[in-house]
Amino acid sequence: MSFVESLYQEYELIVGLEVHVELRTKSKMFCECPAYHFGVAPNTNVCPVCLGLPGALPVPNRKALEWTMLIADALNCKINTYQQFDRKHYFYPDLPKGYQITQFYFPVGEHGFVKLGDKKFRIRRVHLEEDTGKLIHEGDKSLVDFNRSGVPLVEIVTEPDFRDPADVKEFLKLLHLTVKYLGVSDADLEKGSMRLEPNISVRKKGETKMPSYKVEVKNINSFNFVVKAIEYEFARQAKLLREGKPVAQETRGFDPATGKTLPQRRKEVATDYRYLPDPDIPPVKFSRQEIDQIISKRPELPQERFNRYRKLGIREDAAWFLVYNKELADNFDKLLTKEPGLDFKGLAVFLANTPEKKRSLPFDRLVEEFKASRQKETLDEQTIAKIADEVIEQNPKAVQDYLNGKQNAIQFLLGQFMRRVRKRIDVGPVITYLRKRLDGMREG
Ligand SMILES: [Zn+2]
Repeated sequence: MSFVESLYQEYELIVGLEVHVELRTKSKMFCECPAYHFGVAPNTNVCPVCLGLPGALPVPNRKALEWTMLIADALNCKINTYQQFDRKHYFYPDLPKGYQITQFYFPVGEHGFVKLGDKKFRIRRVHLEEDTGKLIHEGDKSLVDFNRSGVPLVEIVTEPDFRDPADVKEFLKLLHLTVKYLGVSDADLEKGSMRLEPNISVRKKGETKMPSYKVEVKNINSFNFVVKAIEYEFARQAKLLREGKPVAQETRGFDPATGKTLPQRRKEVATDYRYLPDPDIPPVKFSRQEIDQIISKRPELPQERFNRYRKLGIREDAAWFLVYNKELADNFDKLLTKEPGLDFKGLAVFLANTPEKKRSLPFDRLVEEFKASRQKETLDEQTIAKIADEVIEQNPKAVQDYLNGKQNAIQFLLGQFMRRVRKRIDVGPVITYLRKRLDGMREG
């Protein structure tokens, strides 16, 4: 047993997640500046509100609230009719006001869950806040670009329900896909429009109390890096615990080059932020009917699409393949209405088995190839007779079974026939011939 394996025998991993998703609304969260900020000249999409100038009045973006409700609903959250924006105070150069507007007391949604197979992972809350500016480091200077300041940002917080890094990855993949299906964010990990933060702690196996600390690893931009950071932290923390040393509550960063995490700063406790309701923004209220109406417009979710494909009889792995390849699945769905007679179960498997390089071919061409692969050859009568006679001669027991009234003996003989032919053929004429010959034997 390796050292790390021995740690896994003795200790249990506990992980919760915080995921930030930037919404792709036209304008920012509390002003009319364009929200799009990638590749835009620094500090051009700014105004007194998102620069935090005194006297500027923020007005919440209704679209951002609606989209956050869609995310919360997709994660099975209860949506609050009363929502409120609060100030979270801290100092940092990318935060001009000295506080970030977020939702602390009354978030958009709470108490949700996501199911993966038969495991259930609880969602604590889904809330809306504003993004901060961005620091750009040039030589010994640091510059601030406020284009991102005030961009709507959704935070999804799970309960510490994860025990296995593989589940974390599955969850994140499904969450990423869900956000894409909803069409509310680019969810581009590399550009930072989706940011991942695992909270990791470790306890002795068999213990039921939650550890008194957690280590937060900030702003990771790939699912695999999250898994690596979690595995690294587990080994680091479990080793400390085994040595009888306490694990410090802190924020750490992940270095992809080494696969290690490094301390950043001691984590503040929530009260340090001095959350208080933003006096400039009145609470936002929705009636149940308004909420139901907003949610009724949401598009099909990955899990729903999967269930629909399964009802069509599509194999499980092929169904997930399509669900995860949205463009392919969209084309697949169009074909469902256009050519309802097609063998869709076969097509789904064919697409799932198509090498990745080929998948970028125009969809019509892929379908043509599938159809070509499905072409059935009709054998001429002579060939059928020759092979069928051979089969009959070499399988006297099956022949006798058939003559004794066992109808499905014919399936066995057909199978023997196919083994000799080894290509897709039209089996109708073969069955007709076999029956004629065998029935003839009975009469004779
Ligand atoms: Zn602005």
